[in-house]
Amino acid sequence: MNLGIEGKLALVSASSRGLGRSCADALASEGCRVAVCSRNEASAQKAAHEISEQYDVEAMGFEADLAKKEDIDRLINQVTDALGTPDILVTNAGGPPPGTFEATALPDYQKALDLNLMSAVHLIHHVYPAMKAKGWGRIIAITSISVKQPIGDLLLSNMARSGLTGFLKTIATELAPHGITVNALLPGTHKTKRVDKLTRDRAALAGKTEEEVYRQMVSAIPCGAFGNPSDFGAAAAFLASRQANFITGHNLLVDGGKYMGTL
Ligand code: NAD
Repeated sequence: MNLGIEGKLALVSASSRGLGRSCADALASEGCRVAVCSRNEASAQKAAHEISEQYDVEAMGFEADLAKKEDIDRLINQVTDALGTPDILVTNAGGPPPGTFEATALPDYQKALDLNLMSAVHLIHHVYPAMKAKGWGRIIAITSISVKQPIGDLLLSNMARSGLTGFLKTIATELAPHGITVNALLPGTHKTKRVDKLTRDRAALAGKTEEEVYRQMVSAIPCGAFGNPSDFGAAAAFLASRQANFITGHNLLVDGGKYMGTL
């Protein structure tokens, strides 16, 4: 299927590796031009170079710490100057540290809100005016299965992403008349560096081997394996497509059947 987005400019935040990178790859494979971002300029530029080589599209890497509003302001200015205004925005950021309520210090809440809620708000605030002027835009936020089914040892993630979900649903209604769709992708458990680290942390906490924790985590996934990030990226490309123009305000799980609720 031709997704009808060739030549569109996609800005994917936190995209030097993992799920963000898989979204950047999938969009580039559909012919999008891509702006990659990471806290480390060299990593962002390396990822952009690889994307450009592999998919024969224009791709550029930019440095930004998404927890800092001033970095996001600068990122948007640099992307706009170099490539134009984004038609597609995928919001992503690193995940907050794991922890239970009793183990979480008060200052950690604000850090998680800055990284996993306000970064998306700031990015969207910057890109929507040009999308509105063009009468076309796609906003896709990477959140988590935890907005439907909170995860016990990921308190900060559960909290920040639930707030973002309320924000996204509200603006989906407001922006729909302007041809802008707003959706969230909810990863279950995909094989990335973050999940490797979570597996290690859980093993250390429980006094188990990583293999034991891995098997326990996989046993909760009906598909029988961790997700492949490229499958996740493909879902982002579909939500960005011309064909997805009537899908907005939606929360799409990409979780191999892990979520046990009906809706
Ligand atoms: P990852 O650790 O593999 O990659 C995260 C990316 O974010 C990296 O490119 C990193 O450099 C970048 N990053 C981190 N902090 C940043 C910051 N402050 N500013 C800019 N860039 C920053 O993680 P991932 O597994 O790809 O996860 C992506 C997001 O999805 C995270 O928020 C994670 O919590 C969430 N998530 C992932 C899964 C999963 O199964 N992988 C499940 C649920 C939610």
